[in-house]
Amino acid sequence: LPIADLFAQGRPLRSLEFFPPKDDAGVAGLRETATALRRIRPDFVSVTYGAGGGTRERTTQVSALLRGELGFTVMPHLTCVGHSRAELEGMADRIHAGGFRNIMALRGDPPRGATEFKPAPDGLRHANELVALLKARHPDFCLGVGGYPERHPEAPSMEADLDNLKRKVDAGAAFVTTQLFFDNNAYYRFVDRCRARGILVPVVPGIMPVLSLNQTQRFTQMCGVALPAVLTKRLEAAGDDAGTAEAVGIDWALAQIRDLLANGAPGYHVYILNRAKSALALAAGLAA
Ligand code: FAD
Repeated sequence: LPIADLFAQGRPLRSLEFFPPKDDAGVAGLRETATALRRIRPDFVSVTYGAGGGTRERTTQVSALLRGELGFTVMPHLTCVGHSRAELEGMADRIHAGGFRNIMALRGDPPRGATEFKPAPDGLRHANELVALLKARHPDFCLGVGGYPERHPEAPSMEADLDNLKRKVDAGAAFVTTQLFFDNNAYYRFVDRCRARGILVPVVPGIMPVLSLNQTQRFTQMCGVALPAVLTKRLEAAGDDAGTAEAVGIDWALAQIRDLLANGAPGYHVYILNRAKSALALAAGLAA
């Protein structure tokens, strides 16, 4: 089912994001995690696409497992990194032939060590080009794209970034999923600015229940996302106690999601880091 049709039903959607494990043992672990998560009936799940190498094949493998074996609606991610146009068209055909109708279309990050994104020979430079390529190849694809409430780190300004987001939507993207954020006001401001620019598709907040202060600082620095002082303090107070830090992360995410849903967000997408615990705790917290 195209995810856009689910959003059109008007109820908030719950979605979860997996990443492809490196080896078969990891896939077995993911199968277990995903099986546990069936209980909370996510409306769809997504599977990220690696920067290169073996995990790229695993996106296909894991997507097929989640869809075929476990019955989820699955949205594989696809990026422009390292692919020519012809390769991307081939990937589009394979994804389509595999029965998938939803794709998260991204540019991708520069490979580790590189500071700037370089398109592959005869490849694509921006995600809007990937959206256009996928739509031209298979008009029945339903495409999600990334959005950045606190600006993409490479964008010269928020205005320029919003113009580029508009290009992706004009090229045929059906919804936007945001980069993680910890302050809902950043999301609300972003949605207002999107609407003012004529970006009218659902903007789904991306939420990451954090696991530790270290990990959170790493993510926020890498992505240019603000880390609220209160959250930092709570994680500091948890110290080396991983269980307490995880509980802080779940608590913060739960408060964020409650507020987002109360303020009309079209759902929430959880970066679950291949762990069942936080997603199950969030679902239980929301049901309570
Ligand atoms: P673009 O939309 O192409 O934007 C990149 C930069 O270029 C921005 O600064 C933008 O303002 C600018 N820009 C865009 N279009 C134009 C244009 N036409 N002209 C001039 N400038 C332009 N990465 C992975 O490798 N695999 C994943 O599975 C993955 N999943 C993600 C899921 C989500 C929901 C999000 C938000 C990000 C994900 N990422 C993933 C990270 C993503 O690849 C990076 O953030 C990347 O740096 C930008 O990708 P994009 O699709 O937003 O790029």
